[in-house]
Amino acid sequence: MSLYADEIIRFSSVLKISYNLIAGRDELKRMKLREKKHLISVALPFSDLIYGFPNLVPVFPIRMHMFNISKYLSYLGSASNIFGWDNVSKFLGFVKNAGIEEISKIIDEIIDDVIETLNQKYNEMYDIGVERGISTDFCFALKTLVGMHVTKSKNVSATMNYSIRCSAWNKYLESLKSIDDSVKDIWLDIPPRNIGNSIELLQDNIRSVINELEKLSGHSYSDNTLREHFKTTNQIRRDYKTIIYDIGASDIIPCNPATFSEILALLSLSFQDYNSNAKRYAENIHQMVNEMRERIRKGLGMDVSKYHKIMVTPMFGGWEPKTHEIIYKLGGRALYADWDVLRFLEDIPISNRRDPIEAYAYFLADITENGIGCDNDILTDSYIRVAKNLGADGLVFNQLFGCHSVSNCYRLLKDKIRKDLEIPSMYYTFNRIGENVEQISTRLGAFMEMLQ
Ligand code: SF4
Repeated sequence: MSLYADEIIRFSSVLKISYNLIAGRDELKRMKLREKKHLISVALPFSDLIYGFPNLVPVFPIRMHMFNISKYLSYLGSASNIFGWDNVSKFLGFVKNAGIEEISKIIDEIIDDVIETLNQKYNEMYDIGVERGISTDFCFALKTLVGMHVTKSKNVSATMNYSIRCSAWNKYLESLKSIDDSVKDIWLDIPPRNIGNSIELLQDNIRSVINELEKLSGHSYSDNTLREHFKTTNQIRRDYKTIIYDIGASDIIPCNPATFSEILALLSLSFQDYNSNAKRYAENIHQMVNEMRERIRKGLGMDVSKYHKIMVTPMFGGWEPKTHEIIYKLGGRALYADWDVLRFLEDIPISNRRDPIEAYAYFLADITENGIGCDNDILTDSYIRVAKNLGADGLVFNQLFGCHSVSNCYRLLKDKIRKDLEIPSMYYTFNRIGENVEQISTRLGAFMEMLQ
């Protein structure tokens, strides 16, 4: 029996987000070829400016690939066009309840394979990145991103490049030109500190990016479009936080903890480009909140008060996806909240700033100063903040091979955890998916034992 499928199919919102993530290739193709839209490659949740133009489409490049299970998901997609996702979800639930074995097995395979199939593709991209000659010292994320660009940059008109404090990241962005020099690279430099006139400078840099996007799009920039988009993404950020904290960290959750972690992993991946359609993503994640609450209200949730809450981080640059299943089997529940650690879940302050460019500048300055671009002292404070808000009983740190920026602060973090939180923590090293599962499992086993 599947650990995930039985429950995931009850959430039509999860089916929709999975479908848009994995089977987005056809839709992207249609937008590019028939609707003559420009696809713009993005990585990390930096897609917002692109949404200011009607014919520009941000895409996290792995989504342009064909996945093994796309075919089956496409059948579900076609069914949803006729019956709607809610009915597809009900039908799948009916099949599972009725125990129609053959179909039930296929459903298990489709749903279980969403994250699994993505991981296979990630490893494939990693190998292509390595073959391309990228420094072996680079982290998993950068190797896979190179692989994604080697295989798919022919489909994109531009890459959206944000400089962050990680020098390897900036080097990777610079290397994209050598993969395909016909792809335009659009750079947004973010001053490392919010001092002096850095906000004005950042606004100028944002305006230059907007000029570049205008040239590409052929449409003029409009304050209103960007303002409306920021309102939409703020709603996404709030719903995302509700799922992590109000629902995920409570004693009754809507499904088993491993499924819940799987949903958090799905959100973490898809949040980077909102599956190329922010309004649709906003509707889906809002529906997810409602569906989760509804299950809890109807008494269909699971009492997890005895399961230890384990914050697992950082995972955005690559992590072993078996982690949450292992933790669940050992009596815990893994919670992923990287985007909040890095401050991407803060509102873009559009409600108190009329000019969306100014609002976005403040948002980026905050991320840079207090999240992804900050120094290790502030970053470790951010880990502590999130662990506190989650009420975590333990913290598992994923030390990425090759990461000298975000993953190298465990020693400092450990001291702070001991002092400020008084909870146990551990780290494991990660290089490539599936490479280290046994060792991770043994280490997690000893760690969870300590919590009993
Ligand atoms: S911060 Fe670390 S994980 Fe992120 S891109 Fe840089 S090296 Fe990779």
